[in-house]
Amino acid sequence: MFDQLFIDNEFVAPAAGRRFDAIDPATEQRIATLALADAGDVDRAVRSAHRAFAAWRRTTPAERTRLLLKAAALVEARRDEIARLETLDMGKPLRESLANVARAVRSFEYAAGATDKLEGQSIPVDARSFNFTHLEPVGVTAHITPWNYPFANACRSLPVALAAGCTAVVKPASETCLTTLLLGDVLREAGFPPGVVNIVTGSGTEAGAALARHPLVRAITFTGSVGTGQRIAQYASEHVRPVVLELGGKNPQLVYADADLDLALRETVRGAFTNAGQVCTGVSRVLVERPAYTRYVEALRERVEALTVAPGLDDADLGPLVSEAHRRTVAGHVSAARDEGARLVAGGSVPPDRGRGWFFRPTVFDQVDPAMRIAREEVFGPLLVVIPFDGDEEALAIANGVEFGLAAGIFTRDLGRAMRLVRDLEAGMVWVNEWFQSPVQVPHGGVKHSGIGREQGLAAFANYLQTKDVAIRFG
Ligand code: NAD
Repeated sequence: MFDQLFIDNEFVAPAAGRRFDAIDPATEQRIATLALADAGDVDRAVRSAHRAFAAWRRTTPAERTRLLLKAAALVEARRDEIARLETLDMGKPLRESLANVARAVRSFEYAAGATDKLEGQSIPVDARSFNFTHLEPVGVTAHITPWNYPFANACRSLPVALAAGCTAVVKPASETCLTTLLLGDVLREAGFPPGVVNIVTGSGTEAGAALARHPLVRAITFTGSVGTGQRIAQYASEHVRPVVLELGGKNPQLVYADADLDLALRETVRGAFTNAGQVCTGVSRVLVERPAYTRYVEALRERVEALTVAPGLDDADLGPLVSEAHRRTVAGHVSAARDEGARLVAGGSVPPDRGRGWFFRPTVFDQVDPAMRIAREEVFGPLLVVIPFDGDEEALAIANGVEFGLAAGIFTRDLGRAMRLVRDLEAGMVWVNEWFQSPVQVPHGGVKHSGIGREQGLAAFANYLQTKDVAIRFG
């Protein structure tokens, strides 16, 4: 199954027979061979989705609900298998993979409950007409996902598109294809008709680009880096297609001296080092009010040094990074931070006791100036910077002084201050006295370079529906 593409409910070989390897980042061993799709394979997948759309769009909401609930139940039933595979393929600790699968189940359930609530409007015009809007599925949708949450991300947009009556082609990141392919098997077993969901594996520049530029694709949902997101937006413009772009972040956590510092610290560590820091909404800058600064950095050092690093199946605090190339990138950021004069508080290197596997120690820098590259660029790894501030104005200037605007957090006991900051922070998601709250029913997305549009919540259905206005004259 893993060395094939999923088209028309069948696992099929790529036409040119090209393959590439899936590698376990904890051992550097090959764990599977994968199909490397070319533009012709992508075309086959899109055409399959296009054919399937004709019947799928006419299914009743109740039929779609039943299939989506069946998919949720099957994902739940295969939870351990999917989670183990995710950990093997991506490296994350097993308990995190299990939580990601649980989230995927919720995504299917949530979308299942919405199929019969996607209502249009009736608009008063004059005494002799009715005017109403009808929401229609857009058609074939493309879902291009990153490697950090392969299963959860595929299951974030796909159930919504299916619930809206769209068909889909999914392209996972080449580093992490296994659980997305397994999803094909699950959806076939659930009873989704051939062609409603297709999955193509391959490179971004070839298979990904062919998908995003395909004339039969009517909407694109992309999660990944800013650079690729910009390219996707250009591709989408070729056929005037809508895009949702879920991109990167450089998320600030503002910690005031009056906060529950123990809670703030716990959330700093969880926010910065979950999934070895490979999280778009992770804490990447912690801004600490000066009276608490020295204490905070010291306590942070102690907690970070106590974190364990080991293969994901051992369920340590941090698993390996996803790839050798990514570990090189993270190490490059560490060198740059040192060169710019930041002070290393913890980590900063490969763990000495780990020979194989792309591990990296959880790393903290302080004495970081907001102008330094390390304070502005996304690292997307286990690297946190600490920056002191005095007062709200400076905190806001630092927090908002980057190109990104995905998530932000405020830790204080002063509710008035928290609310003013909620108003003024440039971010798509703001958390007060907590980090990461983003269940499937709330909108998820960013501002500025962090993206366009929202996934999750009822707002996400608009990504896959178009409005037809209907006027009926009767007098
Ligand atoms: P990436 O941009 O390198 O790749 C993302 C996907 O795009 C992959 O499937 C890749 O194969 C594909 N791709 C690459 N080039 C392409 C092209 N020219 N045309 C079409 N597709 C192409 O990103 P990544 O390194 O896999 O993921 C890390 C990034 O994702 C980080 O910046 C992170 O912040 C972001 N991210 C954002 C969210 C969010 O919800 N906002 C969630 C997870 C990750």
